[in-house]
Order: sequence, then C-alpha cells, then structure tokens
Amino acid sequence: MPPRPGTRPECSVHVAFMFKTFRRRPFPPQNPLAAPCGASHLSYAKFSYLLKFSPLALENAMSSRHTRVLILGSGPAGYTAAIYAARAMLKPIVVQGIQPGGQLTITTEVENYPGFAKAIQGPWLMEEMKAQAEHMGTEIISDTITEVKLTASPIWLKGDSGTEYTCDALIIATGAQAKWLGLPSENQFQGFGVSACATCDGFFYRQKKVLVVGGGNTAVEEALFLTNFASEVTVIHRRDEFKAERILQERLFNHPKIKVKWDTALDEVLGTTDPKGVTSVRLKNVKSGATEVMDVDGVFIAIGHKPSTELFVGQLPFKNGGYLITKPWSTQTDLPGVFAAGDVTDDIYRQAVTAAGMGCMAALETERYLHALDASHKQAAE
Ligand code: FAD
Ligand code: NAP
Repeated sequence: MPPRPGTRPECSVHVAFMFKTFRRRPFPPQNPLAAPCGASHLSYAKFSYLLKFSPLALENAMSSRHTRVLILGSGPAGYTAAIYAARAMLKPIVVQGIQPGGQLTITTEVENYPGFAKAIQGPWLMEEMKAQAEHMGTEIISDTITEVKLTASPIWLKGDSGTEYTCDALIIATGAQAKWLGLPSENQFQGFGVSACATCDGFFYRQKKVLVVGGGNTAVEEALFLTNFASEVTVIHRRDEFKAERILQERLFNHPKIKVKWDTALDEVLGTTDPKGVTSVRLKNVKSGATEVMDVDGVFIAIGHKPSTELFVGQLPFKNGGYLITKPWSTQTDLPGVFAAGDVTDDIYRQAVTAAGMGCMAALETERYLHALDASHKQAAE
C-alpha cells in the first residue's frame, strides 16, 4: 500500500536528502569501491594503496583536483559540453550536482528531441547522454559545488563533499529549478500534499482530486500526466489563455478528467496538522476578487523555473530573472575562461535541444580559449 498522499516527503526532496546522506557517510574502509563521491577519481589500486600505507596522502588526494575543463551540471548542456570537450582531448570533469541528469529526469515522455521518431523517456535520454560523455573520456563526479572563486587563477571551486577543484576553464551549466508561489501555506504543506513534480509524486494520488497551478508547458504536461492516477485534475491559471504549446493545449482541453479555471490564483492551501496533509484550497478570482474553497488532496505547483545562479552572485552579472549574461552569439561570460550554457543563461527558449546546442558552443569556445592560453604561456616562457 502506498502511503497516504501528502504524508511522505516529496520525492525530489527525498532524493536530495539521500544524495547528501550518501556523500556524508563515514568512509567504509572494508569496501573501497564504496568510497565517498569525492574520491571517485581514484583508481581502485591507488585507493587501496593509499588507504593502507598513507591515509594522509589519501585525504589530500581526495580533497583537491585540478583539471583543464570543469563542467558544472549534468543536464543536456553539461553532458553535451562534456562530449565535445572529451573529443577535443581535454579530459573534462563533470560535477553532477543534486539532480544528476537535470530537469529531464523529472519528466516522462520527450517528443521534441530530434533523432527519435517515437517519444522517448526523459530519464533514459539523460542516461544515454551520460554514457556517451563517459565513453568519450569524461570523468563524472557526484558532488555539488557550494563555493566558487571565478577570478582566482586557476578558477577555484569547492564541493559539499569537501573536495576543492581548480580548473583553467569553467563551463557553467547549472540549469534551473522549480519556482514556488511563496505562500506560507504552500511552504507548510510542501512534501505533505504540495509538490512541484508530478512525475515524482503523481503515483500517490490514485483516485484523488488534484490541483495544478500554472499555464505553461510544464503545467499542461503535469496535468495530463496526473490523469493517469487522479480522478479529477483542475488546472488554475492567472490569465484567460495558456502559454503552453498548441498541441499540448488541445490534449488538455480534450481530456475528460481535466477542468480549467481561468483568471484564478491560489490564495491558500488548507489542511490538517495531525496527520499533516492537504484537504482543500482557497482560490481567488483575480478579476472579481471572489474566493471559493475547493476540496483537493494534492496541489502541484508548475509556474516555471528559475535559473540556478545563487553561487555566482557578486561574481558575474545577471540579466532579468537572474539568468547569467553571455556575449551575443557566444557562451563567453564577462570573465575570461568562464562560459555559461543552457537554461542558466537562456531566458527565451529553455529546451533540451537548445541547452545541448549551447553546451556544444561552450565546449568549442573553451577549446579555443585554452589553445590561446597555452600559446600565450609558451610565448611568455620563450
Ligand atoms: P538542467 O537540465 O536544469 O540541469 C542542470 C544541472 O546542473 C543538474 O544536473 C544539476 O544537478 C546541476 N547543478 C545545479 N547546481 C549545481 C551545483 N551547485 N553544483 C553542481 N551541479 C549543479 N525540454 C524539451 O526540449 N522537451 C521536453 O519535453 C521537456 N520537458 C520538460 C519537462 C519538465 C517537467 C521540465 C521541468 C522541463 C522540460 N523541458 C523540456 C526543459 C528541459 O528539461 C530544459 O530546457 C533542459 O533540461 C535544460 O538543460 P540544462 O543542461 O541547461 O539544465
Ligand atoms: P513557463 O513557460 O515560464 O510558464 C510558467 C507559467 O506559470 C506561465 O503560464 C505563468 O503565467 C505562470 N506563472 C508564473 N509565475 C506565476 C505566479 N507567481 N502565479 C501564478 N502563475 C504563475 O514555465 P514552464 O511551463 O515550466 O516551462 C519552462 C520552459 O521549459 C519553457 O521554455 C518550456 O517550453 C520548456 N518546457 C518544454 C516542454 C516541452 O517541450 N514539451 C515541457 C515542459 C517545459 P503567465 O502565462 O501569466 O506568465
């Protein structure tokens, strides 16, 4: 029996927690293969040797890495950059972050990534990209960067595993993360009936009533996906037309389980505290101001994504919405050797294929940058 909807932590939060726990787990000396992620670059033989004869050297080897190209993020932008950089013999390192594979791992069918006549699964696509990057010679590390010094030479980063990384060039592909409305009640019931990921949590709403907030592609796709489980799906949107693609809108309007309420905002999530869970919502008509209470068991917030750029505050300039600024038709940021690709810089298209395209651009520009850097070092030495 699955737990009652709203009584278990939201899947994405749960996964994040597992990653953190795993990374902070004490070192199990009897099982070197289960070394913490920061040590994943050590070969088995070297690891065993250091563990036995020189624990201090092992600690040092684990705690610092230098690479020519470091790629921050493992979504379509990061993995594509890795494939190109590895093919240029730059031996890139990808630091995966808390969401290995990026946003496409929380969706199901992807119909618009070229090369596949039939719809493919997002998580499968990302596994394939990862395998391709590794096959070309990329090293992939499970760590999340928590600190950066972009003007340091070499560029300096620190992961929450404690490992310090330095690199000659950095490709930022940290993508985006779900936005929340900011209501206190939304926060109160997060993981207890309020979610931002239907793929993760939809299963818990079998024969239940759910509400989806938003009007873009994500909201429409989440609503359609939830019809696999829920008995009734209501989508509320703050305007009277959707932003989502026509083909998705048509599927939504033709679905017998889905109702749409236009010009409507979520005013408050209502529920019980013991056991903690959602029982209803108060909705507000944004034109008339009228409110109504509607019974629902779950609320899915699908109002878009914000770029993951907090790490770079004060070090790189941002444009509207917190996206990183790059030079026109380039992935070059304001700082030499620092490039940005994918949703972290894209406030317009935000598609898997455009992210991958920018990842390719970033790797080619990085290669050119490193080539010029090597030439100038050589010249200075002569
Ligand atoms: P992301 O995929 O967001 O990946 C970012 C990566 O950065 C993650 O691996 C994360 O762990 C990592 N990261 C973040 N911070 C750090 C840090 N501090 N240290 C290390 N790593 C870090 N697009 C389509 O084209 N077709 C679709 O069908 C489609 N469906 C979608 C469905 C949903 C539900 C969503 C949310 C999006 C969908 N998109 C779709 C959009 C698409 O997923 C994105 O445009 C694409 O994933 C962006 O790729 P990215 O590499 O820029 O970033
Ligand atoms: P989005 O396109 O930015 O849409 C966000 C929606 O939420 C908009 O309708 C917006 O309303 C609404 N919204 C935003 N803030 C709100 C608030 N505070 N209160 C109420 N409503 C609010 O975001 P998305 O749907 O997550 O899509 C993000 C990107 O990923 C897009 O580029 C999209 O094309 C892509 N994507 C693609 C696919 C696919 O290709 N199949 C699937 C999913 C996502 P307004 O319309 O009034 O602004």
